[in-house]
Amino acid sequence: MRYRRFGRTGLNLSVFSLGTMRCLADATTLQAVLERAIAHGINHIETAAAYGASEAYIGRALRALGYPNLWLTTKILPAGDARHVQQQIEQSRQRLGVDRLDCVALHGLNTPEHLAWLNTAGMATLQQYQQQGIIGALGFSSHGSLPVLLAAIETGLFDFVNLHYTYFQQRNAPAVARAAALDMGVFIISPADKGGQLYRPPRDLQDLCAPLHPLHWNYRWLLSQPGITTLSVGAATADELAFPLAVADQVEPLSPEEQAVADRLASAMEQALGAEYCRQCYECLPCPEDIHIPEVLRLRNLTLAYNMEEFGKYRYGMFGRAGHWFPGQPADRCTDCGECLPRCPSRLEIPRLLRQAHSQLQGQSRPRLWQGI
Ligand code: SF4
Ligand code: SF4
Repeated sequence: MRYRRFGRTGLNLSVFSLGTMRCLADATTLQAVLERAIAHGINHIETAAAYGASEAYIGRALRALGYPNLWLTTKILPAGDARHVQQQIEQSRQRLGVDRLDCVALHGLNTPEHLAWLNTAGMATLQQYQQQGIIGALGFSSHGSLPVLLAAIETGLFDFVNLHYTYFQQRNAPAVARAAALDMGVFIISPADKGGQLYRPPRDLQDLCAPLHPLHWNYRWLLSQPGITTLSVGAATADELAFPLAVADQVEPLSPEEQAVADRLASAMEQALGAEYCRQCYECLPCPEDIHIPEVLRLRNLTLAYNMEEFGKYRYGMFGRAGHWFPGQPADRCTDCGECLPRCPSRLEIPRLLRQAHSQLQGQSRPRLWQGI
């Protein structure tokens, strides 16, 4: 395991962090996962008040293990007044069984309304906790748009950021760069699952990434970037940890062999999509029907270029169901109004491509692992 400084928090975190959204089966399983994670050199656990019993299970496991040397991050929703925030913090401390919370993140700073909450007494209360040393570092997670992410970073209120960023979704690259420039810690959310269900990749993707497994390729691509501190790794059982962590000591720049994978992936994308390649410039937004055109077409790109259809269906099935956690309506809402067309520098026939994507990717909707607000 290698370790990196978590920006101005000063913490020296393992380059993989144990995310506990998936360890929800029971306290015994979580303890086994935690023990194995520690044995692999992981020194950072990430949880949230909203992850069901996760905090309570972690608290129990920490007690059973005699409070090992670990850093903890928990998250609370950016909502409510000072009293509400106080309750959230006290409950998290109680469930986790700790006096001090090393890192607290606002969970899902996703919208302009959440940004406005930063000017309320709720946020001031968090800052008071930090001044008193009850909270070590303050950060935020976001599933929102790049402008919201950048605005939150620019407030200067936060020591670290948790965000989505992988080889297969590079939209947030400017936020990673800006956070690193401001000496903030950068935590990558779910690079394996929401990053492409890379623990069970399609054959086409495996061939393109060979000799690396696509999961390891994506991890290496992320770890080769010094501005990124740590990647979340989830595990439902202790045995699931060994495979992802096989690259936990590889943080150097991409080797020529790894760079060749990047080149192959890029050229496969160009070849498969040709003139219908959505280059993710986001110029087409906004859509009056609230269709997240770039994200629908990103899933289409991945499906056609790498056969990532199962992943495409998984994410597509969330449109219209997850609110600000995954914004946008299903693509069959398109009315052919044509507003997006002149804005697309690639001159894509957006409504036709959306219809195609909808017919390929619509399927059974999946329940979410936890229900945020
Ligand atoms: S044509 Fe369809 S996708 Fe484009 S702006 Fe109109 S409704 Fe939205
Ligand atoms: S403007 Fe065109 S290329 Fe850019 S994201 Fe929208 S559809 Fe894709």
